[in-house]
Amino acid sequence: MYVYNEIETLPREKLRKLQDERLRSMVAYVYERVPFYRDTFGRAGLKPDDIRSVEDLPKLPFTRKQDLKEHYPFGLLAVPREQTVRIHASSGTTGKATVVCYTRNDLDIFSEVMARSLVTAGARPGMLLHNAYGYGLFTGGLGVHYGGERLGMTVVPVSGGMTQRQITLILDFKPEVICCTPSYAQTLGEEFKKLGVSPDEISLKYALLGAEPWTEAIRADVDEKLGIRSTNIYGLSEIIGPGVSQECVEARSGSHVWEDHFYPEIVDPDSGEPLPDGKEGVLVFTHLTREAMPLLRYWTSDITYLTHEPCECGRTHVRMGPIRGRSDDMLIVRGVNLYPTQVEEVLKRIPDVVPHYQVIVTREGTLDEVEVKVELAETVFQQVSGEMLTDEVLEANEQLRALRRKIQHELRGNLGLNMKITLMAPGTVPRSEGGKLRRSVDMRKL
Ligand code: ADP
Ligand code: ZN
Repeated sequence: MYVYNEIETLPREKLRKLQDERLRSMVAYVYERVPFYRDTFGRAGLKPDDIRSVEDLPKLPFTRKQDLKEHYPFGLLAVPREQTVRIHASSGTTGKATVVCYTRNDLDIFSEVMARSLVTAGARPGMLLHNAYGYGLFTGGLGVHYGGERLGMTVVPVSGGMTQRQITLILDFKPEVICCTPSYAQTLGEEFKKLGVSPDEISLKYALLGAEPWTEAIRADVDEKLGIRSTNIYGLSEIIGPGVSQECVEARSGSHVWEDHFYPEIVDPDSGEPLPDGKEGVLVFTHLTREAMPLLRYWTSDITYLTHEPCECGRTHVRMGPIRGRSDDMLIVRGVNLYPTQVEEVLKRIPDVVPHYQVIVTREGTLDEVEVKVELAETVFQQVSGEMLTDEVLEANEQLRALRRKIQHELRGNLGLNMKITLMAPGTVPRSEGGKLRRSVDMRKL
């Protein structure tokens, strides 16, 4: 088997020993250098010596996004700002951006975990990498870029957007690997289809897709349209950026967390208590090696589970499931919790619609209403209408009425909510233009 770094297959006892050693140094490091952590320890009645092993982590309080905001921009640095060589910020999907800083050594780790992630996804030195993650403050572009260079790939720094140019570059340069958001991979797939370029004429083989939640429905869509084997890449700026975990192309069943650098826990969203393997909860990370802005027990708000089951690829690092959503993405509708990815999973089983959808929540008086806009498959659309999907067409057509009832029934059966279904013509639900796509709109909050 080919791995970038032998550490990916380190036996778990050795990995644990390494994590414990690193954690002890890290705790001493932040206690000495970061007033915020000295206070945190003080308030919890703890001394650095009380944390001897990752098993002691639950004694420590969580660090939250709010703590980063309160110390905006440089208040949590463990080194003088002058010793940092780069600044990134979260894309600000939920509120004000959070700022993160890197020392030279932090950037070295970033490139290393990205290089591992690329190999894990199928990339090899010498391959061409089309990097369609946004360059700039967002960690995606530069993070993937330096990882690709580190691995010895030829990196094309396209960044996001300008879809026609992306298509031309892919056709001309013939990259084997692409990095972008899953929704943007869908956009590219559709464009190729429109141009009459078939999947076997597209040079791409592997895709690292991340930065937003996605499910097997979208995987099937992009794999088919682009002729690739896509894998999930996960990360967040507070921890390092993309390359915190990566799904292996062999199993495509959960993403290996590079836990020699980032120690993961899953905790109950309400009580904060640790949860066992397989149980869904909030993902929490502790830095083991960061220099500029190390965080202990950082509460990501991302919902997933962990599994320590051995993986067929031979890597020993723990796997995390797909992200169901962020806890702040969760819609509470008439007392029922709803993530857009749950809708996506149900729609996947309905052959007459495609995985382009939007979930819209409104409030009429005191009652919450959910509308799901979902696109018809091209074939069905041609049969029933061809040109326009007017209200008259929708109402008059028995096939469409039945389809709507079926979707409604499936959603109610699986998610316990009655939703209004609006069937849309192909291409009419908003697409990604390069960045993260929000598939839900909560009008109650506007
Ligand atoms: P922002 O929080 O402003 O979006 P980031 O660029 O740091 O800023 O984004 C990190 C977040 O993006 C993660 O916390 C997670 O919610 C989401 N994310 C990243 N990768 C994935 C992925 N593979 N699947 C689902 N969500 C992801
Ligand atoms: Zn694996």
